Amino acid sequence: MTGGLEGYDEVAEANAQKSILDIHWSRICARLKAEVGEVEYNTWLRQMGVGPVDEDEITLYLPTRFLRDWVRGQYGDRLGALWHAEVPAIRRVELQVARGASPATEGDAPSAGPASAAAATPPVAEVVAVVEEPRAAEVRSDLAAPLDPRFTFDTFVVGKPNEFAYACARRVAERPSSPGFNPLFLYGGVGLGKTHLMHAIGSELVREGRVSVAYMSAEKFMYRFIAAIRSQSTMEFKEQLRSVDVLMIDDLQFLIGKDNTQEEFFHTFNALVDAGRQIVVSADKSPSDLSGMEDRLRTRLGCGMVADIHATTFELRISILEAKAAASGVEVPAKVLEFLAHKITSNVRELEGALNRLIAHANLFGRPVTLEATQDVLHDILKANNRRVTIEEIQRKVAEHWNIRLTDMSSARRSTVVARPRQVAMYLSKQLTSRSLPEIGRKFGNRDHTTVIYAVRRVMELMEQDPAFAEDVELLRRMLES
Ligand code: ADP
Ligand code: MG
Repeated sequence: MTGGLEGYDEVAEANAQKSILDIHWSRICARLKAEVGEVEYNTWLRQMGVGPVDEDEITLYLPTRFLRDWVRGQYGDRLGALWHAEVPAIRRVELQVARGASPATEGDAPSAGPASAAAATPPVAEVVAVVEEPRAAEVRSDLAAPLDPRFTFDTFVVGKPNEFAYACARRVAERPSSPGFNPLFLYGGVGLGKTHLMHAIGSELVREGRVSVAYMSAEKFMYRFIAAIRSQSTMEFKEQLRSVDVLMIDDLQFLIGKDNTQEEFFHTFNALVDAGRQIVVSADKSPSDLSGMEDRLRTRLGCGMVADIHATTFELRISILEAKAAASGVEVPAKVLEFLAHKITSNVRELEGALNRLIAHANLFGRPVTLEATQDVLHDILKANNRRVTIEEIQRKVAEHWNIRLTDMSSARRSTVVARPRQVAMYLSKQLTSRSLPEIGRKFGNRDHTTVIYAVRRVMELMEQDPAFAEDVELLRRMLES
């Protein structure tokens, strides 16, 4: 662009800018693809197009609002960071929906870059069903919600609390509408994998290309129904619903107290089951506990297979974390995983959220994941999951950790094997509770407060001398900390 200014005009300038942006963009895309993997990239990001730069902000286009929102939520920060790294002047990324051609990639998109946002086919994520008859092809776009491609059987970690529900879901995906499994009713607390299993059933069936599948939340079902009443198209709505082979309604408890919608669902339900179609529903309670649901509906809901998902166990949480960490490609030390599994016990969604944040941090700053960093990055989540720790709990955890008997915390035995853990427990009691030294002494077999002082000093000395020991104590402290 130096010299030869005669031929220089605004169009040439714009073209040059565009091709420079395209080069940056294809580099960013390549990096994104490497980070998130081919499947995820193709599903969510491939159709993104690059738009104009305005001062420190670049606009990116996506073909649908759904994709735009998804990309913004999941990748917004990352896109911003990548652009900034590539072009330091860019500090912000604006995501917009553009159904028309993407200005920057129209025509001659670089091969490594994104496909045009004008792609005629709907985005992968919105293809809900692969169907044989064209009739049902309409069902998929305006009737059902998209299936999340991440929620498959492969990515579902099976353990004691969910193995039964998992087996039932697999069975339904293999042979929909088998007697005894229709309807399949999945229930359990928030964030334990109900939606994941439903999507997995859907994806599996769609992958096999055998049937048409419609998945939607009960809430959406209700809105669709109300909208159909308003636009006087309830017949069409019913026909659409009744034309699917597998209908999945998520979070059915939402229909409690919504009598008309329940009624409609009941009729749809009966019509489908009578026609040999499969129904899968989820709720937060078992059919018999769904008070506020019509009796006949509850009865019908319970007459197929009812499978509950129990609260996670420590073992399951560890397996889930291991699987998700491995999939992320970021090395997360076992100690950090253990720590998270101890601290975040509420549900898988929170556990996953915590891990994702750690991983994002590691990616963004290129720093290894450590216990320290974990504590820092997850400060708020950990606080919310914190409880007040008691001396008894400290004794139990420490005894478990070093494999000694709990009674040895207050026994008179003085061999190092038991004395050392006992000292650590005293030290942690001093650190983590507001108990006085004499009180602590009393809880450890009526020992004198000077013994506690000695223990605290000794542990501090040892921590300085022996990093492995220090790490053990640190780990215990973080696990217990309130
Ligand atoms: P629910 O619908 O029961 O509230 P979800 O299915 O939405 O819960 O699960 C919450 C999150 O936890 C999802 O991201 C899901 O993938 C993940 N998750 C839940 N259970 C498992 C599991 N067993 N293995 C892997 N991921 C899981
Ligand atoms: Mg759910």
